[in-house]
Formats: sequence, C-alpha cells, structure tokens
Amino acid sequence: MDTRVTQTADIPFYQSAGNEIELFELAWKNRLPLIIKGPTGVGKTRFVAHMAAKLGLPLYTVACHDDLTAADLVGRHLIGDGQTVWCDGPLTRAVREGGICYLDEVVEARKDTTVVIHPLADDRRILPIDRTGETLHAPDNFMLVMSYNPGYQNFMKGLKPSTRQRFVTLRFDFPSAAAEEAILVGETACEPMLAKQLVSIARSLRALKDVDLEEAASTRLLVYAARLIGVGMDPVDACRAALVESLTDEPEVVEALMEVITATF
Ligand code: ADP
Repeated sequence: MDTRVTQTADIPFYQSAGNEIELFELAWKNRLPLIIKGPTGVGKTRFVAHMAAKLGLPLYTVACHDDLTAADLVGRHLIGDGQTVWCDGPLTRAVREGGICYLDEVVEARKDTTVVIHPLADDRRILPIDRTGETLHAPDNFMLVMSYNPGYQNFMKGLKPSTRQRFVTLRFDFPSAAAEEAILVGETACEPMLAKQLVSIARSLRALKDVDLEEAASTRLLVYAARLIGVGMDPVDACRAALVESLTDEPEVVEALMEVITATF
C-alpha cells in the first residue's frame, strides 16, 4: 500500500490562497476533522504537508485506491516465524501515536472504510479494532484529514452525506494569477516573466470552451513546464510535454491546445 509517514523539521513551501491556514488551525485546535475538495494538482497535499510541519505533527499519508479496505487502514495479523503478529495500519498508528492521518482521494477507497472513519470523525473520536478487541480513543493531537476531487466523482463514488456531515470542508480551486505565479517562482525559482507567461497559458487553456478535456491544466503541470524550461528545454517543447500531452490523447485537441502555446512562445 502507498503510505508515507513524514516528520519534517523544514516547513514545505505553500502559497496560501485565502483563510485556509487559519481554518485548518481552528479545526485542529477544536479537534474537528477536515475534508479538502478540489481538482487535481492545486496544492491539497502540499497544504496538508505544510500544516503538519507547521504544527510539528507527524503526517501519515495514505493514497487511497479502489482496493483499499478498512483492514489496510486499521491493520491486520501477519504470520511470521510460525507466529501471528498484529501489525497496525497507518490510521491506527496515527491514533496511537498522535498526528495527522491524511486519506488522499478517499472516494476511491472501498465503502467498508466508512465503518472506521465514522466513529473517529464524530465526537466519539474512537477507533474500534474488531480483530484485537481494542477500542482506541484518539488523543487530542490526532486529526483526520481527507481529500477528494469532485470532478471525478460519479454517483457511485460520491461521499455519503453521513460521511460528509462529520467534517468541516475546505474547497480548493485554481489559484489566482498572482498566486499561481508566486507558486511557480517559489517552487522552481524561475524568472517572474516566465511564470507570468505560463500562468497566462494555463488560464487560456482552462478557458477553452470547445475543447473536451477531462481535467483542466493543473498548477502541478505548470511547475513541470517551468522545471523543464529551467534546465534549458525549448519552451514550446516543454509545454507540449508537460501541459498538452498530459491533458489529452486526441490529436485534434493537441493541435488546439498547441495553438495557445505557440501564440505565447
Ligand atoms: P493535489 O494534492 O491538490 O493534487 P499537490 O498538493 O500535490 O496537489 O500539488 C501539486 C504540485 O503543485 C505541488 O507539488 C507543488 O509543486 C505545486 N503546488 C500547487 N499548489 C501549490 C501551493 N499553493 N503552494 C505551493 N506549491 C503548490
């Protein structure tokens, strides 16, 4: 399973867009769980990493996928040396040791995960572990954070109201032009002029009405383009690789998107 545990002394760079830092801190202080919803690549994961480091908390990140079960989060018995040993999953570790458990793209996970999320996300703040007979009480320094992309959601995969209504919810969207330029300069140390050009391209791509794209160009892809240009790649080639081919497989759509690029570079 793709799980990361991080404890960083350095606070990862995060360009704020509004009152989200204050809201996160208030949720944290008041032991409220948090959902962050928004399109891919607009800083949800970076924001959580930034806040965990700022608050001095370990961060348990779980990249959810469609096979992820409650047992993957809670833990399971493993057999080794002829013995059965209980092994905590990332959610259980975060509850035992304190910290932030971040379930990225939670709508992908199997529905049985709600059984463990619900009692942790309301005022009970407990994690019952059926297989060991334990009931863990989350310490004050435990916080549950989940993210999802409403764009991908279909009827079957949406979060149930009974889950949503246990969380405080933050909406993330594409940053303003000034904020996105600051992100590019902060992430890649590129020239402000290049940041301006790339952000202007992204905004034109996002505004294209007649082009059928599953998702609009993300800030992540702009960061990639700036990095490629920064190491000497031709800007048109860099934008084709990072911004255009990553968005579509359709040759006609590639052509339409490339027109926006060549109008700038
Ligand atoms: P998400 O979790 O929303 O899919 P990420 O947090 O992984 O997106 O962001 C993708 C990349 O875009 C980051 O690695 C970072 O380079 C950049 N990024 C996007 N938004 C921000 C931001 N507000 N501050 C700093 N970097 C950002």
